[in-house]
Amino acid sequence: MNDLPDEPTEEETADAPEGEETETCSDAEPGDASEETPQATADDGGEATATVARRLLIAGNWKMNAGGFDGTELATAVANAVADYDDVEVVVGPPATALAAVTDAIRQAKADVGVAGQNMHAEESGAFTGEISAAMLKMCGCQWVILGHSERRTLFGEDDETVAAKTHAAFNAGLAPIVCVGETLEQREAKQTLEIVSTQIAAVLDELLEFSGMGVIAYEPVWAIGTGLTASPEDAQAVHAAIRKQLHQRHPELAETTRILYGGSVKPQNAEGLLAQPDIDGALVGGASLKNESFSKIVEIASKLAQQAKTD
Ligand code: PEP
Repeated sequence: MNDLPDEPTEEETADAPEGEETETCSDAEPGDASEETPQATADDGGEATATVARRLLIAGNWKMNAGGFDGTELATAVANAVADYDDVEVVVGPPATALAAVTDAIRQAKADVGVAGQNMHAEESGAFTGEISAAMLKMCGCQWVILGHSERRTLFGEDDETVAAKTHAAFNAGLAPIVCVGETLEQREAKQTLEIVSTQIAAVLDELLEFSGMGVIAYEPVWAIGTGLTASPEDAQAVHAAIRKQLHQRHPELAETTRILYGGSVKPQNAEGLLAQPDIDGALVGGASLKNESFSKIVEIASKLAQQAKTD
């Protein structure tokens, strides 16, 4: 969308709120992630440099769709279609009803495709009818969980505190969270984009630092989700750069190893421009992830960019 109101200016980007006091990663407890938990590709330890390669990640959020055998079919099709693009990390996010069957289908296809839950409860167990714990997602074969999606925040009342508690629980269970942040159109028009996003990120910074490199952030402007409107690559990059700066203020290595995805009406037609931006490390894809053709095309585009980056 090129006629977006109120693109963050350079000045706004430079003014992104300071992180809290710098901590060193050596202060952080090592995560108890399982072997199958995805990790960032940066070298461990040492000072971060400006050129750590972050593997592009394309994740599909199926929302409340493809929750039965249709989900298994879609997962199998994706698994087969993306088999050759091993320079890109691919994740699908089916509804809870299809998680176990989808992980089974992916196993049968011998594909390197991760599986994400779309939500979870922060508690380990208890009287929470209808809810699902991190351990249950793990039992279904998930390595990932999408947290704080704007639909969860706006339709189900999740606030930053809830998202932080869930993020903590996910990491502790060995699940890698994809934490979603983003501003509404109203907030963007009020020039609050960076303030809103940095507040949402500040709520999970402690958790991200403790499990440095394992967590992923998805910047999803709310006005772009499911609307067909997309942030221009420059608009998206400006916000991603501000997020990276906020992570850097907390710890340089956190900034280098944390992948920041863009989400909001990503499709094959706009993926290349977005994914080519230096601070965009992949995409969280909703509508276009429901068809193997469009989702695997986005993975193919990401793979082409990853190949190009290797030769640059
Ligand atoms: C999403 O649900 O996270 C999303 C980005 O949806 P869409 O791609 O349909 O805008």
